[in-house]
Amino acid sequence: MSKQNVVLLAGGVGGAKLAEGLAALNKRVNLTVIGNVADDDEFHGLWVSPDIDTLTYSLADLIDRDKGWGLKEDPCNALSMLTSLGQDTWMNLGDKDFGLHIFRTLKRLKGERPQVIAAEIGRSLGVDATLVLPTDDVIQTRVKTAQGWISFQEYFVRERCQPTVLALEIAGIDKAQPTPESLAAIAEADVIVIAPSNPLVSINPILSVVGIREALQMRKVPAVAVSPFIGGKTVKGPADKMMQAMGFDPSGPGVATYYDGLIDALLIDSGDSQESEALEALGIMVGTADTLMQSLADKAQVAESVIDLAERCDFTLSPENLSSGERALA
Ligand code: GDP
Ligand code: CA
Repeated sequence: MSKQNVVLLAGGVGGAKLAEGLAALNKRVNLTVIGNVADDDEFHGLWVSPDIDTLTYSLADLIDRDKGWGLKEDPCNALSMLTSLGQDTWMNLGDKDFGLHIFRTLKRLKGERPQVIAAEIGRSLGVDATLVLPTDDVIQTRVKTAQGWISFQEYFVRERCQPTVLALEIAGIDKAQPTPESLAAIAEADVIVIAPSNPLVSINPILSVVGIREALQMRKVPAVAVSPFIGGKTVKGPADKMMQAMGFDPSGPGVATYYDGLIDALLIDSGDSQESEALEALGIMVGTADTLMQSLADKAQVAESVIDLAERCDFTLSPENLSSGERALA
């Protein structure tokens, strides 16, 4: 059996778990990961790309498994020097991690494409999957709180997701162009997968790069998402509160509504099987599995369930399967 080209849209921690699971199926799966870059920011003069680094470190088996981000065995001596020098050091950056940010920043200053830099870092660190950026342009999620607009990392790390989210925007999205690599990966995909990442701040910025949402809507292959919600709650992070703030239920049906026209099937947790009826009413095929991923075996099991669900998708472009946008284009 030839390998399937699987394209995964992913944020950081939740995205990396499924990426590792799919990478473990490398006898059947050729994995390309399109990662979120809207959490990127500059710290101490260096360009930091948290979700791409989490994906890279996870797939290279260099990640700190307890935290789910950062490198294992990576002390923070550089950061403590910056603290001594009076710098703001709420963004955790380890010493080896700093090395990577120096490399990335130097290459960017030389004018290399961020896509090419990310792929080179992946290769150098031993990642087998292909890492793709949705855009080479700078896009940044901004969060509106009662105190005004702040950057995503200020909200997520400095404020520990405490402020109520009033609105979200993606600075730079109007001018951002898709990378040819991301459009080619989608065009060549046999299966499209949306990771159990934060729909609003990890997946939406990828979908919002002009051409990407449209390419997914026009797909001729099945698209499967994994819900980041178990029992109506996130495993970690603010996605449940954020979904509610934006008028979506933090549940399988809420995710399916958010991804309207972009997915054919949704994998939900076995404990949430009562959501099946509502999902089927939305025209979404349902798969269930234990979606809490801790060990590599858990991750591979969820990845298997995703691929099985994609294979079961009766994917025919009949008019009733088309979203309104597709119907208009058909
Ligand atoms: P971030 O960029 O590091 O915030 O990570 P992502 O956006 O990729 O993922 C965050 C989401 O992953 C959260 O909404 C979590 O609920 C979800 N998540 C984390 N671990 C798991 C897991 O083991 N199973 C499922 N189903 N979701 C998870
Ligand atoms: Ca992120």
